[in-house]
Amino acid sequence: MSFLADLRNALGRENVLSSPSELAVYDCDAFTVERRTPGAVVFPRSTQDVVEVVKLCRRHHVAVVARGAGTSRAGGCLPISSPLLPFKECATAGLPSSAWEHARENTVGQASSDTLVLMLTRMNKILKIDLRNRMAVVEPGVVNSQLALSLLGTGYHFAPDPASQTVSTLGGNAATNAGGPHTLKYGVTVNHILGLEAVLADGGVLQVGPSASARPLDLVGILIGSEGTLAIITKLWVRLTPTPQDNRVIRAVFKSPDDACNATGQIIAAGVIPAAMELMDRGILAAVEEAFHFGFPADAGAVLIIEVDGLTVGLDRQQERVTELCRRFGASDVAQATSAEEKAMLWKCRRSTGGTIGRLSPSSITLDGVVPRTKLPHLIRRAVEIGRKYNLRVVNVAHAGDGNLHPLVLFDERDREQVGRATAAGREILEECIAAGGSISAEHGIGVEKLALMSRQFAPSDLEAMRRVRYAFDPIGIFNPGKTIPT
Ligand SMILES: Cc1cc2nc3c(=O)[nH]c(=O)nc-3n(C[C@H](O)[C@H](O)[C@H](O)COP(=O)(O)OP(=O)(O)OC[C@H]3O[C@@H](n4cnc5c(N)ncnc54)[C@H](O)[C@@H]3O)c2cc1C
Repeated sequence: MSFLADLRNALGRENVLSSPSELAVYDCDAFTVERRTPGAVVFPRSTQDVVEVVKLCRRHHVAVVARGAGTSRAGGCLPISSPLLPFKECATAGLPSSAWEHARENTVGQASSDTLVLMLTRMNKILKIDLRNRMAVVEPGVVNSQLALSLLGTGYHFAPDPASQTVSTLGGNAATNAGGPHTLKYGVTVNHILGLEAVLADGGVLQVGPSASARPLDLVGILIGSEGTLAIITKLWVRLTPTPQDNRVIRAVFKSPDDACNATGQIIAAGVIPAAMELMDRGILAAVEEAFHFGFPADAGAVLIIEVDGLTVGLDRQQERVTELCRRFGASDVAQATSAEEKAMLWKCRRSTGGTIGRLSPSSITLDGVVPRTKLPHLIRRAVEIGRKYNLRVVNVAHAGDGNLHPLVLFDERDREQVGRATAAGREILEECIAAGGSISAEHGIGVEKLALMSRQFAPSDLEAMRRVRYAFDPIGIFNPGKTIPT
């Protein structure tokens, strides 16, 4: 039987897409620079379905690209064929290095008809909310904010809240180890995953439940952030965090990003750990203001949105301290959101920067560098300068408390020459992050976007260790080839 016939047989015709117009939707993710159409798209509804699909892909030499909502900013869902699958026969006996060499030279990244996109979005059930054990059990296709809504009124929440939370899935959040505005106080996704189930490259099912705390190897830690290259996550046990009693949201206007970053550092040095400290520079503020008419001053060089949370009794004091420090270190205007609506509006402004960017330019690349907090002003300045060097505009948002900056390189993807300049500018900005003692990714992952920079960030021995881990999980290179770890 043909591959498509096998898939339809296993999953039902309604769960397999194969016409060119249907497949075109899955040729890229939120990283817009590259596109490749997959050979097929499938929608499993259970772990067993995923097992069947993986076994069929092995039999037909087809690479498997897991996909949640496709909001990856790093090209993690781009369908790329596997260099190794033609050598399936060698895999059982261990791949000879000549197979790797031959495969690398001849097949990597060619046609994508031998790729399959495995959509996890129909595995979208919240299986259990267990408040007594402060955890929930979910399928990978549950949307982050869907879990948040289900927990309303319980006094608990799932802390990781990427700005994409109304669309991105918990499986995608786990596979990318997503962060978000509240990472400063609450940590990234790996800090909130207690256990998981995953389908392995040979079709076996791995289950590391939440009670296996004495496990000698941290398999959950290895799989979180592995971007679909080691296994397909099919179930998650997630930690539920008590919802803070109250919060205050403060908006501080500064003349420049330098002043705003300096105030951020001073707040942390003073011993206050806000839940979030988000920075928007002048360039992005213009787009946000046009969209929401919030009333940011036209001459603002940067705005910080600062949230403090916790027990109501201590919040006024924290808010006064933050306000005083912002004023002392250069804020011209500091105001507190006075109603729930105003708080929501401020957060909407920040969370919608990705959407409002369309007002500035047809396309953009959102970078995801991270540097020591004190180096943030330098990096923001350099990002703008590097943009100028390539004759492109760069605007900035940042999770300023974490030193995580998101320069947005603006361009027009219909012009190939501009695409080349935008990619080069992005690479140079990330190299600048490495030079400043930081890293090429804080939360978006490596995908295809930063693959070439991995050897700048890591020593050959580090990369070799990563390759060996990958090989141990997936000796035939069936899962998400061409991503994350350079082969
Ligand atoms: C407007 C916007 C704002 C964003 N804000 C943030 C932010 O604040 N913080 C942040 O961290 N990221 C952010 N992102 C990036 C993105 O939303 C996150 O990386 C998110 O976690 C991806 O989830 P997803 O469901 O869309 O995954 P996808 O994009 O579908 O997949 C991402 C990667 O995970 C793999 N994958 C997906 N599901 C599985 C699975 N079940 N098993 C194994 N591998 C899997 C894919 O193969 C791919 O490599 C933003 C993106 C956009 C467009």
